[in-house]
Amino acid sequence: MQWVILLLAGAVILPTICLLWFMTQAVRNERLAIKEKLLSVYSNSVNTSLKRTLDDDWLRLNLTFPFANAYLIFDENDNLIFPVENTSEDIISDDIFNKAYKLEYTDNNPDHAIAEYNLITETSQKDALRIKAEIASIRCLRKLNQLDNAIAKSRKVLSKYNDEDIHIRTQKVRVYLLLIEMLLQNNSIDIKNELSEMFDYASDNIATDDNLYLFGTNQQTTKPIPTSLQLIVLERFISFAEPIKKDTLISKKVKRAETLIPKLKLSLEMANLFKDLSFITIKGTNSHIFRLDTQEQLYAQYNHDNSNFAVRKYLKIYSQESIVHIFYPFVDDIEKLPSKCMIYDEKGDVVCGVKIASKPFIKSEININYFPGYTTELYVLSSDFEDAADKQVAVYIWAGVLVIVMILATGGFAGGTINKQMKMNKLKNDFIATITHELKTPLASIRVLADTLLEGNYNDQKQVKEYLGLICKENKRLTGLIDNFLTFSRMERNKQVFTFEKVSPADIAKSAIEAIQTKYNQKNCHFSQKIDDDILPISVDKDAIVTVLVNLLDNACKYTYDNKNIEFKVFSEGENVCFSVKDNGIGMTKRQIRKIFERFYQADTSLSRRAEGTGLGLSIVKFILDAHKATIEVKSQPEKGSTFIVRIPIL
Ligand code: ADP
Repeated sequence: MQWVILLLAGAVILPTICLLWFMTQAVRNERLAIKEKLLSVYSNSVNTSLKRTLDDDWLRLNLTFPFANAYLIFDENDNLIFPVENTSEDIISDDIFNKAYKLEYTDNNPDHAIAEYNLITETSQKDALRIKAEIASIRCLRKLNQLDNAIAKSRKVLSKYNDEDIHIRTQKVRVYLLLIEMLLQNNSIDIKNELSEMFDYASDNIATDDNLYLFGTNQQTTKPIPTSLQLIVLERFISFAEPIKKDTLISKKVKRAETLIPKLKLSLEMANLFKDLSFITIKGTNSHIFRLDTQEQLYAQYNHDNSNFAVRKYLKIYSQESIVHIFYPFVDDIEKLPSKCMIYDEKGDVVCGVKIASKPFIKSEININYFPGYTTELYVLSSDFEDAADKQVAVYIWAGVLVIVMILATGGFAGGTINKQMKMNKLKNDFIATITHELKTPLASIRVLADTLLEGNYNDQKQVKEYLGLICKENKRLTGLIDNFLTFSRMERNKQVFTFEKVSPADIAKSAIEAIQTKYNQKNCHFSQKIDDDILPISVDKDAIVTVLVNLLDNACKYTYDNKNIEFKVFSEGENVCFSVKDNGIGMTKRQIRKIFERFYQADTSLSRRAEGTGLGLSIVKFILDAHKATIEVKSQPEKGSTFIVRIPIL
């Protein structure tokens, strides 16, 4: 039996495990395949998009577009030529101004100082000195509150000097500053022309991508004034322009000044940090974008220009925002996928994109010129592919589950059938063994008694009668046994037919007592009965119910060994008729009670047991009662006795 179950379990479990394994493999493969597919789609898009975005033409167009945030320009000897340093003014010797300065500043005598400054203007051969002296006398006139004179002189000075000299231009810018200040002080708003001219001086020669090639060459028409001065003048220009900012020309120039100022500031700042180019050789090669060692996230692009005009080296400096512009077309492409991307510079800092909590789908290097060490991360936002994988996986799982259920069901069914068959076999064997065992004893005693009588081994007629009585008793027992076997056999084959009729419970009880009477006529047996005659008739198969009661009464007698005291009661209880058989016999444990209705169950199977039996009686009882929709209750305690109560519904 056990090995059959093991075999069956193996037949079910093995294919189930195999199937589960196949399923997990299939699921994993499906996910892998989808991921692979997705990866190739995305890598293709990333690569084509990157190529398109960062191809040489595009870059040339974009990186030469004047959007650099600052410029440093060096000549062939690595000397800084932009931003222009503050040297142009200092070269003028101040010695001849000493006397005038003393009068103006120490003695606080602008009047006399003017005379002294005028003397310098008249006597000096150098334009740079003369214009400087003229500015000083304008300053003194202003101090003397002779604004009109000062304004007139300023205008004269501006028209008088030639622009070509760098020192003159530097000084002229100062005159403009003074003049406009004085005009505003004089409440004159007719400053448009002077303001516009001042702007032109200040914004001239500021490095942009368009004019880089001119710096430091003889192609540069005018020498640039110091960049720090340009910055100051442009800032002042914006504040001077305030009253006339509605003027279109001025507003255009204000806008230009606003874009130039941050570039100049950053250029000056960078010029301070990177006075020489020694770091370039290490940090980047020609045209590559590389990160600067600055607090702010700044990038630089180094160009070594060996053109016809001169050798120049440029350092274009970009803020992170400017670099982002380069990647915009790529980012746009990627976001169409739909996905998001992040771009990191060579130091691992974010250049573009906002960090997303999930894991990146692809992480790759940007293998495009100009951005060495840059990496990109791609985040897939769409769950379409995952959904497709999930759907496929669900199909696998359901198919697997279905097959497993089918295997289990078939296994269960086969197991059930085998189990039934085995039980039937056991039943048959038990049945045959019981029959042969139970029939042997009465048949043997009948044979012995009959032989004795035939051989004439008896004393008198009384003994003959006694022997015949015994033969009759054994015969009766045999009949009872065979009745039980027949009932059981019919019951097993579902051939037992009950014929229901209205019968008085008292009648049934009496028939049962009659059948068992002889057994109870023993010396040590006290039998009491209490039968309620008034109970309404019940619809039952009388013979079958008699069989039930005979079995119960027989058991009560069988399983009470000494001083039998058996009570038989018939009474009504609610909707039921109750037949109760109580004994003071060996009783049963709870476990035994649960099993006594099973076929062939006997609580005591030892050879020394005193009662004869087949273990069929109570299973027949149960079968009959079930057919009558009746119940049986067992109350029992070992060594104290048992009570069996049958309840049959009165219909
Ligand atoms: P058997 O032919 O062995 O009497 P039964 O089906 O009538 O078969 O009873 C099954 C078992 O239940 C008995 O072997 C016995 O152990 C137990 N049993 C039945 N009736 C009683 C009772 N009145 N007192 C104690 N044990 C009982």
